[in-house]
Amino acid sequence: MKKQKILIIGAGLSGSLLALRLAKKGYKVDLRESRKDLRVTDISAGKSINLAFSDRGIKALTLAGVIDKVMSICIPMKGRLIHNIDETTFFSPYSGRGDKHINSISRGDLNGILMNEAEKLPNLKITFESECKKVNLKKNIAHFYNHKTNSKDKIKADIIFGTDGAGSSLRKSMFKQREILFSFSQQWLKHGYKELSFPATENGEFSTEKNALHIWPRGTYMLIALPNLDGSFTVTLFLPHNEGKYSFESLNSSEKVKNFFKEQFPDALKLMPDLIKDFNENPVGALGTIKCSPYSYKGKTLLIGDAAHAVVPFYGQGMNASFEDVTVLFKYIDKYEGDWQKIFSEYEKERKKDADAIGDLAVENYYEMRDYVANDLFKKKRQLEMKLEDEFDEYNSKYSMVTFNDDIPYSKAILVGNAQDKAFLNLVEDGIVDENTSVKDLFNKVKQKTKEILDDDKTAHLE
Ligand SMILES: Cc1cc2nc3c(=O)[nH]c(=O)nc-3n(C[C@H](O)[C@H](O)[C@H](O)COP(=O)(O)OP(=O)(O)OC[C@H]3O[C@@H](n4cnc5c(N)ncnc54)[C@H](O)[C@@H]3O)c2cc1C
Repeated sequence: MKKQKILIIGAGLSGSLLALRLAKKGYKVDLRESRKDLRVTDISAGKSINLAFSDRGIKALTLAGVIDKVMSICIPMKGRLIHNIDETTFFSPYSGRGDKHINSISRGDLNGILMNEAEKLPNLKITFESECKKVNLKKNIAHFYNHKTNSKDKIKADIIFGTDGAGSSLRKSMFKQREILFSFSQQWLKHGYKELSFPATENGEFSTEKNALHIWPRGTYMLIALPNLDGSFTVTLFLPHNEGKYSFESLNSSEKVKNFFKEQFPDALKLMPDLIKDFNENPVGALGTIKCSPYSYKGKTLLIGDAAHAVVPFYGQGMNASFEDVTVLFKYIDKYEGDWQKIFSEYEKERKKDADAIGDLAVENYYEMRDYVANDLFKKKRQLEMKLEDEFDEYNSKYSMVTFNDDIPYSKAILVGNAQDKAFLNLVEDGIVDENTSVKDLFNKVKQKTKEILDDDKTAHLE
């Protein structure tokens, strides 16, 4: 057993994974969670019931030795099933390579698996209803309030990790420590979200296509649906808080809600017997991007996951990126074992630019999902792009780089992916390529044009 004592604040997705890996390495781990144990209490995590889980997350959970258990609760989603307002649909695969897909997974079940595996280790203890109020960074002491016993306690640890999500108490304590010169930004979207549902049919079956992520893109708002193992779908409405013809503020009666769905999402409405109940009972969540720096303080504390970089959910990467944080951190823990100052500074050097990039990519994808996916030019480009992925191993769409290529850092995916998208759209719009262009010719033209754009960006110092 290693002598150093590690405190982890927050037993959500990233905290549970980090705790499991550190305990497996022999550290004594004290994992604290403000909420009740979600494995025995029916509590909503306060946000999405299910999540899109993909390659970066899969890699992290493989390294933790839990992937078989996790894959057994996944539902593959092979592409987007787009629902038009006239109730027609079209399928847009996530990749031109048939075997590539993302997965729908229950947040609670996944978190439960990670906690169960972590608790099997004798050198790890999880304490629930223990809320961190602040951290004294100079003394490395965290102050907690225990909601079960209504008492306060404090813990001194050698290393303190903040995996306590977007409202991180450790991050707030770092912000208040003037000498750190802590930079922090939080950008809210004008859209919020509300969770609704399609129940399973009377026979317990799925009421619509199971192996797809369903999208109803409507320009300034959209609906999405992801499948659950019990045959239901979790449906999320993204809508402005209080702007435009339709907003959470303006949909202030059951009749208005029903009419909005009848007009905008008629096929979805047929699968939503509980629409009004769900709409009235479920809260409106806010969506924002958090960036901050530094992530660490004097080799003693480190922010991981949403605590360091909350992102909007439109690339399905927040959790995957948080899991990838743990993968990258362990690269340096294995290399510089015991030298936490070096580990944290090398980690941050690598990770900060990638975390910022996924934050930006997620905001960009917000426009793509709610609007462009239904646009003819975009559809044409996407079809040609799938042909290239099918034919050439070295071609990856931006979506594939982000989702299916864990060896491509997010910062590279945004740079190359955006140049490639621009090149592709220009070539299609100018009629230089179309469905009659040979794949070889298409590949060469896209490659050449992408290179030109990247060279221009370099000259203009945009990269
Ligand atoms: C609507 C929505 C949809 C999403 N969809 C996806 C998706 O499809 N794919 C994807 O990859 N990501 C998705 N995400 C993002 C994903 O949910 C987060 O990135 C992920 O949960 C981050 O994990 P985390 O462990 O860092 O933080 P969290 O999951 O927020 O966990 C933090 C934990 O710390 C606890 N805690 C908080 N404060 C304290 C405290 N003071 N003391 C002790 N404990 C504390 C909390 O109770 C919680 O258990 C989505 C997010 C939203 C909002």
